[in-house]
Amino acid sequence: MENPRHWRIRKQRYALVGEVCPHCEVKIFPPRDVCPNCGGEAKTQFAFSGKGTVFSFTVMNDAPAGYEKNLPYAVALVKLEEGPIVTAQLTDLGDQPVEIGMPVEMVTRRIRDDGDEKGIIVYGYKFRPAFASQH
Ligand SMILES: [Zn+2]
Repeated sequence: MENPRHWRIRKQRYALVGEVCPHCEVKIFPPRDVCPNCGGEAKTQFAFSGKGTVFSFTVMNDAPAGYEKNLPYAVALVKLEEGPIVTAQLTDLGDQPVEIGMPVEMVTRRIRDDGDEKGIIVYGYKFRPAFASQH
């Protein structure tokens, strides 16, 4: 058994937290308190595994001033194991080409390091190839 307080902190900091519908058990991300499947109220928190596969992706060759050093980078639609699809930047790719169906896992990363808040969507998480953590 995990210490509940520890679990709560860990969920907030390191996990992708959405909701699970108590009526039809559909997993919901991002959390919206209403089930998109059955329309029922869904406020039960659910921590996703953070594992999924690349559903589709775009390689970005343009970036706002201050982000050029990160070019090019890939933004993917990641289909989570539990069903929902999330948009996130891919990281730790090295020379590896991105492929549809590639297994990926969530990592928490500092995404940016200057004060310019304009012109870019700042995601709270990224995904990396899933096998990168096995060695
Ligand atoms: Zn439902």
